[in-house]
Amino acid sequence: MTKEAFVDQNMCIGCGICVKNLPDVFHLNDRGLAECFDPRGATEEDIQLQAIDVCPVTCIGWRETCVC
Ligand code: SF4
Repeated sequence: MTKEAFVDQNMCIGCGICVKNLPDVFHLNDRGLAECFDPRGATEEDIQLQAIDVCPVTCIGWRETCVC
């Protein structure tokens, strides 16, 4: 198991902070909401510090994924 970041689309307000800080991980979709398009575009530490910890509505989190 490994973990990867995801955005709760029901909570995101589209402020763009995560996209600005980590453009290789997050982008805004056609509804103006953030998506994690490449969970491996930055280190887990950077995702935690530059996205999860600074999201104003705390809608970015980790989920466990299977690598098998
Ligand atoms: S920082 Fe949070 S609220 Fe802002 S765009 Fe990213 S996920 Fe959405």
